[in-house]
Amino acid sequence: QFHMIKYEDLQWVSVLGQGSFTRIFSGYKTDIRDGEKHVTDVFLKELDVVHKNYWESFFEAASLMSQISHKHLLLVYGVNIMVQEFVEYGALDLYLQRGRSVSVSWKLDVAKQLASALNFLEEKNIVHGNICAKNLLLAREGDPSQGSSPFIKLSDPGISVAMLAKDVILDRIPWVAPEVLESPDNLTLECDKWSFGATLWEIFNSGEPPLRGWDLDQKRQLYERFLQLPPSQWTELADLIGQCMDYQAAFRPSCRSIIRQLNSLITSDYEILHAAEPVTQ
Ligand code: ATP
Ligand code: MG
Repeated sequence: QFHMIKYEDLQWVSVLGQGSFTRIFSGYKTDIRDGEKHVTDVFLKELDVVHKNYWESFFEAASLMSQISHKHLLLVYGVNIMVQEFVEYGALDLYLQRGRSVSVSWKLDVAKQLASALNFLEEKNIVHGNICAKNLLLAREGDPSQGSSPFIKLSDPGISVAMLAKDVILDRIPWVAPEVLESPDNLTLECDKWSFGATLWEIFNSGEPPLRGWDLDQKRQLYERFLQLPPSQWTELADLIGQCMDYQAAFRPSCRSIIRQLNSLITSDYEILHAAEPVTQ
């Protein structure tokens, strides 16, 4: 269903660097619609030549994203080189790590938007497979300190875990669901719930990478011992994260239940409870 973008309609502007498997660029595309010329900023992802064996999986991720449309899912225009809408504020983990003070209700908004994207995917029975704050892109900042709404878009999953080497999968602990380590080619909707839990943890810990500095062996042991990430002080939130990161996949909540629970979290309670504490975000 995706339309072809002619190579000559794409302009490369600058090299932005590298993703896990990609080389990334900014640019723009030009097209003629209704006799008028339109220029759109785009984000270009090209599979790095050293990873060319992943070509099929890269193509799959691109075509998946270009065939579905939802306000909280990133728009992908083209697939051979992944041509995406350019998202102004970039990845959410980096944004939070830059230390901008962000209110609890702002974070809660981000969580609800991600839950709505997941709900959409769940209804279509589509597994994403790589949900994490790095793959959430911030399209609108809102006013983070006043709590005026941000707007996020979930990016493409990239190379499927089924293709990845064991070490790369281990490194995705705690985002990757424990059962995926045993059977990477059997991703389910429940796996995304686990990843959602880990992503909630990131969002509410200022984008801090969970398990920073842990080596692969330590990461593996966390799962072997059925351990959890350090719980949030906000008990209701800690409880929701715990439900999502349940080692028994069948017990993880549905998206509807996640949304209901997020809606019942009252941020003012949290802010009053913690008003006496120094602001660490
Ligand atoms: P993976 O998604 O395979 O786990 P990755 O997220 O590191 O790995 P990419 O998806 O290629 O690799 O993205 C690299 C980085 O580029 C992201 O972390 C983000 O900072 C930025 N980025 C990605 N897509 C966009 C976009 N559409 N607009 C703006 N910035 C983006
Ligand atoms: Mg990505």
